[in-house]
Amino acid sequence: MNDRTYNVVIVGYGGMGSYHCKLIEPVQQISVIGIYDIIDYRMELGMADGYKAYPSLDAVLADDLVDVIVIATPNDVHKEIAIKALQAGKHVICEKPVTITSTDFLDIVEVAEKENRVFTVHQNRRWDEDFRIIQKIIEGRTMGELFHLESRVQGANGIPGDWRQLKNYGGGMLLDWGVHLLDQLLLITDSQIESVAATLSYILGTEVDDGFTTYITFKDGLTALIEVGTTNYVKLPRWYLKGTEGTAVIRDWDLSGEIITRNRNVPHIEPKPIQAGQGLTKTMAPPSEESTLKFAIERPELESQSFYENFVSAIEGKSELAIKNKEVHRVLVLIETIFEAAATKSVIQRSI
Ligand code: NAD
Repeated sequence: MNDRTYNVVIVGYGGMGSYHCKLIEPVQQISVIGIYDIIDYRMELGMADGYKAYPSLDAVLADDLVDVIVIATPNDVHKEIAIKALQAGKHVICEKPVTITSTDFLDIVEVAEKENRVFTVHQNRRWDEDFRIIQKIIEGRTMGELFHLESRVQGANGIPGDWRQLKNYGGGMLLDWGVHLLDQLLLITDSQIESVAATLSYILGTEVDDGFTTYITFKDGLTALIEVGTTNYVKLPRWYLKGTEGTAVIRDWDLSGEIITRNRNVPHIEPKPIQAGQGLTKTMAPPSEESTLKFAIERPELESQSFYENFVSAIEGKSELAIKNKEVHRVLVLIETIFEAAATKSVIQRSI
């Protein structure tokens, strides 16, 4: 086994930059040696954490000891830093959303290809347990053929009080959380998107969206409702899936939830009418216990390769990148289409 250590410098030592250090710590072949930030206080924090603080980005890029740059700055400067780093011969991991437009992203990919360097985006929520369970439920067909899914994250704390509230920095919730949920969605089906409708919410101000709802249809018939909210004092479930044989729900990141399916082993049992409000209903009565099966949500097995291990393996030509540039590009095109659908108040018929 090649026991070479790849040396990493974190550019942008804020919340996510320092979190990358923690995540990289247990990974054998890669280690953080330094940081660079435009704010002195952040540089001091980096030094206090035991890292070399570089005086400038140029100083980082001129250091031959540095193999990899992790970009964890606000979104507006990802492109400029990524291109400089690639041209200096470094491999690059960039935080999400990689760029604010899809064409900016293609400019980075062009440089990465020309310089023969590995460039990838930290779409870490592909490794989230709730998402991996959802993938397993769909593949296992416990609830038959999936025909509708709802994926949401909702909080009541507004947009964090930093650059995320500012348009010029690439703020707003569609770019921030939307990029994760849409990335997950596009891995759930091989089908192309057929249409996109959307509304953005501006409850907290007009500069950037504080949430959004988008309704997406796919050519294979799947429909998806994706929602992000920052003014929700009561949350809806994280995932709600409908299949031809049943329904699945995962309520939160604690993985509480269940799958309920029709029990094909018992003959159809007519539900008894129930009183609902001022009326009676048989249609909306709960199915009898005998006519359904209930399955618990099972924790997924640990993944054999982490995001960083895959990145190192890709540098060494042993694996394909887990997060492919064409997938990242497709998500950005979808985000642009959601902005367009919301701005024009129309359903956009487009193959994506
Ligand atoms: P933050 O504000 O906490 O940190 C950003 C840091 O970058 C600050 O210290 C700032 O001084 C520094 N900075 C700004 N411009 C710079 C420049 N030109 N050169 C060097 N440093 C610069 O923000 P954050 O929450 O850490 O977000 C950073 C990035 O990480 C964003 O792209 C964000 O979307 C992403 N992020 C990803 C996840 C995830 O789960 N993948 C979670 C949070 C944030």
